[in-house]
Parts: sequence; structure tokens; C-alpha cells
Amino acid sequence: MTLVLIEHSPLEERLLEEKLGHICTRLLAGRNLRSANVVIKPHLHMAVPAAEAVNTHPLVVRAVARWCLQQGARVRIADYPVYDSVDTIARKGGYVDALADLDMELKTFLATEKVDLGPPFGTKNIAREAVRADLVINLPKLKTDTLQGLRMGVANLIGCLPPEDQISCLAETAFDRRAWADLLLAVCRKIRPALTIVDGVVALEGHGPGVAGKGRRLQLLVAGTNTYAVDKTTATLVGFDPGGLMICRRAREKGDFDGKVRASGNFSIAADFKPPPADLAAGAGQRSLREKKYFLQRPVADNRRCKLCSACWQTCPAGAIAFSTKGIRIDAGKCIRCYQCFGLCPHGAIAIKIPLAGRLKMK
Ligand code: SF4
Ligand code: SF4
Repeated sequence: MTLVLIEHSPLEERLLEEKLGHICTRLLAGRNLRSANVVIKPHLHMAVPAAEAVNTHPLVVRAVARWCLQQGARVRIADYPVYDSVDTIARKGGYVDALADLDMELKTFLATEKVDLGPPFGTKNIAREAVRADLVINLPKLKTDTLQGLRMGVANLIGCLPPEDQISCLAETAFDRRAWADLLLAVCRKIRPALTIVDGVVALEGHGPGVAGKGRRLQLLVAGTNTYAVDKTTATLVGFDPGGLMICRRAREKGDFDGKVRASGNFSIAADFKPPPADLAAGAGQRSLREKKYFLQRPVADNRRCKLCSACWQTCPAGAIAFSTKGIRIDAGKCIRCYQCFGLCPHGAIAIKIPLAGRLKMK
């Protein structure tokens, strides 16, 4: 039976430090952190203010970093965001201010090493600091995501791969939701976080994982030494059936997790937490080109909002986005429905829609 702690805290620095200090003390009891190399892995999605709730909140990162420093650890806070630079996210996202008095900065991972994830994925580049750390503390954001349903602990670790590798992994697997989940689980197996704390203090609900989602003050922190158990508990707390989430399901099926959790804390369920748009494109890889183009759910650009920032076409794993001075155009035949463009567009210029022919067919 795996222990998962459920705590509640408002977005207030002192209270967060108290709650997170309690979580770390309890769950890392027996670990000697003096001089240990600790890597804190937040979720850095994009360069927007903390109020957008798309990144792990800077005060959550600060509280955990401060606790580790107090234990005498050597702490590094790092991530590989897909598009924006860590420096820009640090500045716009409030991390520079939050970490200033700790004499600590948010950094990009410095180097990678080849890690064998086993078949069918083979060898991938993964951040060396994360692979070799004495201890990794995983700090995902609780947020909705069309591709995965929810993004939590296991999914956060894909950020240990450099951006180009994250994109190529999506290209390799995203048409097949099961393969994508298996890849995330394989990465999690290699990183083996000592502690995962999901930041749901201000969670993101609705059309996440980007700025189209809405911040929701759940005041929730879910923590444990077993990332799968933390994800399962978190999903339940926001009204999701963990068995309906591919990552949770595959963790059980592949034997990463026996499904047994002992939750400690206030187990009240936010049943009205808004889910993401339904993933009606699962299995699209097997569909005909005609179906992909005219029937299947897909990302659609609103070129009146597009600022031609390039985030979507530079990170599209399928090369499905063309641009001109008039805006962007998405080739629905090439698109693998990973929804990366939707999640990364900073101007809300991409929506997820079902074409008219698809809607009529569904009726
Ligand atoms: S659609 Fe969004 S992400 Fe793509 S170029 Fe336009 S503003 Fe940037
Ligand atoms: S167009 Fe968008 S959803 Fe389609 S493959 Fe590219 S990034 Fe993914």
C-alpha cells in the first residue's frame, strides 16, 4: 500500500512553505540530503505570468527549494521547455522574483546522455543531471490536456528530454495514445523521482494545457514517493476515473503500479472540475486520409488572433503547419492530433473542432 499525502494550502508564501516543508519532511524521512545533488523538476510550459496557471507555481518551487537548502542539499532547478527559453519563462513567469533571496536560479538542463528505454523506443537523450541526481523531486502542475486527459507526475518527466527529442517522440507515438503513454512510463522508470508533488494550488481546468484553460483555486497539493500513486489519487480528486486515463491504465497493465493507495488527508472530490475537450481523434493513425481531412476532430486556426509568433509551426511534430503573412494553415491530413499547437499558442489562436461532415456523421 503506497502512502499519498493530500494537503490544502492557499496561495500564500508562508503557508505553502509550512505545508510543503511538512510533506518533504514526512515523505523524505530517512534520506540524508546533506551535500546530496537534488534536482527539482518543475513543469515549465510557456512564458506567461503565474496567474495563467500553466506552469508549476513559483511559490511552490521556491518552498521546496528552500526546504532542500535547509537540509544542506546542493539544489538545481531545471527543465527543458519545448519552445520558450527557460530564461524567458523565469522572468515572465515570476521565478526570478520568487527565487531571488535563495540565491538560486531556474536553469535549462545542461547536458544529456543516451538512455535505453527498452523496446520499442530504444535509446533516447535524457538530461544527465536528472538521470544522475541523488534525488529528483518532481513538481508537476495539475492541468487538463486533450491528448492525455490530465497532465500530472508521470507526464511531467517528458521535460527531461530536450525539446527536439520531445517533438520527435510525439511524431513517433502521438497517433497511438497507448504508445505515447508507454513512452512516458518508460521515461518515468528511468528518472525514478524520489518525491512527486502535484501543484494543484491553482490548477488549470477546461481547455488546457495552455492559455485557453482556466485557473482554478483548488488549494490542493498531492504528494508521494510513488509517482503513479500520486497521479491516480490526483485524478480521483478532480473527478476523473483513473482507469479512463491511458497513463494510469498502462501503469497498471505494465506492472509499474499495483493500484493500491493509502491516501492521508482531506479526500474531498472537486467533481465540477472542468475536463479538457474530449479526445475524439484517438486511433486517428489508422483512419483514411479522407477521414482525417473531413471528419475527425482537429486543430483549427483563427488567423484573426494569430500573431505569427512561430510557436506552433516550430514545434509541430508532423510538419503539418504552413505559414504566410496571412496566418497559418494546418494540413489535417498530415496532422497527428497531438494538440501541441493548441497547448503552446500564446494567443488562443488555435481551437479544437470537429468538421461539419464529422458532426453530421456523429449524429
Ligand atoms: S497560431 Fe498561435 S502559435 Fe501559431 S503562429 Fe499564430 S499566434 Fe503563434
Ligand atoms: S498541427 Fe498541431 S495537432 Fe497537428 S500534429 Fe501539428 S502540432 Fe500536433
